[in-house]
Amino acid sequence: MDFRLTPEQQMVRDMARDFVDKEVMPHAREWEEKGEIPRSVTDEMADLGFMGAPTPVEYGGAGMDYVSFMLLIEEIARGSSSLRTTMSVHISLAQSHLLKWASEEQKQKWVVPLARGVKHGAWALTEPNAGSDAANQQTTARKEGDHYILNGAKRFISDGGVADYVIVFARLPGTQKYDGICSFLMEKGTPGFSVPKTETKTKLGLRASPTADLAFDDCKIPADHLIGKEGDGWNQAMYVLNQGRLGVAAGAVGLARAAFEAAVKYSKERKTFGRQIGAWQLIKEMIAESAVDIDAARFLVLRAAQQKDLGEDNTLAVSMAKLFGAQMAQRVTDRAIQIHGGYGFSGDFEVERYFRDARILGLYEGTNEIQKIIISDRILGPLEKK
Ligand SMILES: Cc1cc2nc3c(=O)[nH]c(=O)nc-3n(C[C@H](O)[C@H](O)[C@H](O)COP(=O)(O)OP(=O)(O)OC[C@H]3O[C@@H](n4cnc5c(N)ncnc54)[C@H](O)[C@@H]3O)c2cc1C
Repeated sequence: MDFRLTPEQQMVRDMARDFVDKEVMPHAREWEEKGEIPRSVTDEMADLGFMGAPTPVEYGGAGMDYVSFMLLIEEIARGSSSLRTTMSVHISLAQSHLLKWASEEQKQKWVVPLARGVKHGAWALTEPNAGSDAANQQTTARKEGDHYILNGAKRFISDGGVADYVIVFARLPGTQKYDGICSFLMEKGTPGFSVPKTETKTKLGLRASPTADLAFDDCKIPADHLIGKEGDGWNQAMYVLNQGRLGVAAGAVGLARAAFEAAVKYSKERKTFGRQIGAWQLIKEMIAESAVDIDAARFLVLRAAQQKDLGEDNTLAVSMAKLFGAQMAQRVTDRAIQIHGGYGFSGDFEVERYFRDARILGLYEGTNEIQKIIISDRILGPLEKK
């Protein structure tokens, strides 16, 4: 690591590394097979301050800077991308959303228990017909007295069926596209809310992360659960996704590192034609390319994190880090399989899990195509209309 870290940042990284070596690496595979991560794991992370890592101390968090937070995410992802996903939605989506847009009273009520890990958070934007085109929200929120009545459905919501608090987007009746979108905090067990489907082990990857479809059938949410102002939802979502994407990029670095470390180890252990396979130039090439890939991705993440710490607009840097990270993790995990030969394809080695888990990184929180659009739009600026 050549990026200059402060002693505090190094301490966070080392603490996270130690936690992952002892408490995550030995169990991650079993969690994927069972389709769940025991709550005791996130409870332990909460004790270490990880579940509210960048959240200010006055709201129950650890008050870490973003560089430290990204180093923490990298380490968690080295152990388990499912666990990293839980941490990302809980902090980078749910807590970030509330910290930026909720009232002081709401922050005290909701952020404090989230940051302390007493409650778990999820964030529900995607719908069956609103993925990349997120403004095409069809869930409605009708105001009736001191409640909003929600009707509609959400799709692919990480931890949506298990979280205590779900931040839900819905639009006011009669509004379209970017106008009229609102966000609400919905508590688990609210009448009219149900979870028709949860996918764990049948997914390509992230098998210990429950991905849920959510249904709202005249779901009655108290009016004081509206976050920010009516119609602010689109701006809120775009701000929050920018935080989330950076975490996904750091997750890509951690996942790729796990695959790379396994490949380096195997290159020294496995022998063919009487020599360690690491001696063959074609294997060396894969090792060298992966090493450069991982470091380049980490620098992109840390640059975006540092911009955030300095209060600068980091949208371009975040999308670059997310796009490169997602593509990089696929390359590195693919090479790790190649280096393991047939054993890489078998269930006996961890690299097959890394390869499967890498695939989500270019899909959620804005696909690779959406990142390319953001990056090129920022670079080109407004163009003439036809
Ligand atoms: C495991 C998992 C967990 C998730 N967790 C959450 C969560 O916690 N909360 C949440 O809100 N969402 C979540 N999502 C949803 C995720 O963010 C969406 O799946 C993603 O935004 C893509 O939307 P879509 O699946 O509808 O694809 P679509 O938008 O239908 O895209 C299909 C394809 O078309 C491409 N495309 C679309 N528009 C354009 C364009 N203008 N130009 C070029 N190409 C385009 C896309 O890049 C993609 O390749 C999760 C998804 C998964 C799979």
